[in-house]
Amino acid sequence: MYEYTSSKRLFERAQLSIPGGVNSPVRAFKSVGGTPIFIEKAKGAYLFDVDGQKYIDYIASWGPMILGHSYAPVIKAIQQKAEDSTSFGAPTELEIKMAELIKSLTKNVDLIRMVNSGTEACMSALRVARGYTGKNKFIKFEGCYHGHADMFLVKAGSGVATFGIQEVPGVTAGTANDTLTAPYNDLAAVRNLVETNKDQIAAIIVEPVAGNMGCVLPEPGFLEGLRQICDEEHMLLIFDEVMTGFRLAPGGAQQRLGVDADLVTYGKVIGAGLPVGAFGGKKAIMERVAPLGDIYQAGTLSGNPLAMIAGFTLLTELKDHPEFYTQLDNKGAYLKENIYTIFKEAGIPVQVNQFGSMLSVFFNEAPVTDFTTASNSDMALFTKFFHGLLKRGVHLPPSGYESWFLSNALNQSDLDQTLDIIRTTLEKL
Ligand code: PMP
Repeated sequence: MYEYTSSKRLFERAQLSIPGGVNSPVRAFKSVGGTPIFIEKAKGAYLFDVDGQKYIDYIASWGPMILGHSYAPVIKAIQQKAEDSTSFGAPTELEIKMAELIKSLTKNVDLIRMVNSGTEACMSALRVARGYTGKNKFIKFEGCYHGHADMFLVKAGSGVATFGIQEVPGVTAGTANDTLTAPYNDLAAVRNLVETNKDQIAAIIVEPVAGNMGCVLPEPGFLEGLRQICDEEHMLLIFDEVMTGFRLAPGGAQQRLGVDADLVTYGKVIGAGLPVGAFGGKKAIMERVAPLGDIYQAGTLSGNPLAMIAGFTLLTELKDHPEFYTQLDNKGAYLKENIYTIFKEAGIPVQVNQFGSMLSVFFNEAPVTDFTTASNSDMALFTKFFHGLLKRGVHLPPSGYESWFLSNALNQSDLDQTLDIIRTTLEKL
């Protein structure tokens, strides 16, 4: 039995100087128990921990590593760029190239502003929506996560859901009152909120494919319905594409699902593993952003050259290789199909929600379509499943409320090995 000796030692030491020993809560294994694996390095589809153990990685740094870790062109570009200094606080041509590249890949993005995280992207997009419409309230969906800015931490997904936090202390009632929530996939609930808050709602923000209550797909007509409601009510539709952007297609969920947003937020893949986010949208809206307009938003390190060259290089690779998306889709579909077969053979009810390279396994007899149905899953069984896979060398996100992220570095043998390990794990459950 593997002892995780060095990880245990580091975790004890980390807790003396970092809250919970981690710099982002879900990493702590709090809901699944045990010691988080401390990572030494990663290459392609594999993580290597401080005890020398190798894992097939389904976290992919929670999304960015779509082509695998230490992707050679990205690493080389960062190294070269670093020779010219790490930040200037003044504009560069690279920022223009990045903006032009994003515009060429995405729809409804006439102007785009770079920031340093998905959180910043979403909070800035919402400020723009509020400033532009002159209205205060907004609608978000239960179990969706848009970063840790105050107004989004209401019925939020990701770690907030994982730890069962009902109300986040520090978020004032005044702030929370402007956040209206509806169940995902429930257009009637959205219509109801719109009726009872007539002319007070600035925007609807949605994960077009949800990943923060586990992977939950939009039902046919849901996103189209949101688009229609926003058009009728003079509200803006914000697609939070922090997970889906450049992952489901070069043009993200907008392209893949054929629904247009007014404002879009990006993160994760756009920075290739460096701290980057972005928000963009139609000209008439985005020209209200300072210094063009009066909706203020800024950042000392925004457009940082290392972050820009990393993202630019990765997005260029994705643009030049559309076949990567077909390959990722096939890998996701292969896993889904075979996981179903293995669970059926084992006689354990399961739901596998998969869209392209996002996938979640729910221990649930009923379809998972929103936060309530996701929460009805057997999380105790997920925990056993998680640890069974981990000790056999497969690293899943340590929560039943998270999506797995596939990287294109996963080869057929990695997928088959993962399936073998799932089979063995289920036999031993
Ligand atoms: N939006 C979505 C959909 C996310 O998944 C996340 C992070 N998981 C965020 C926003 C926040 O991004 P960050 O952690 O980079 O602040």
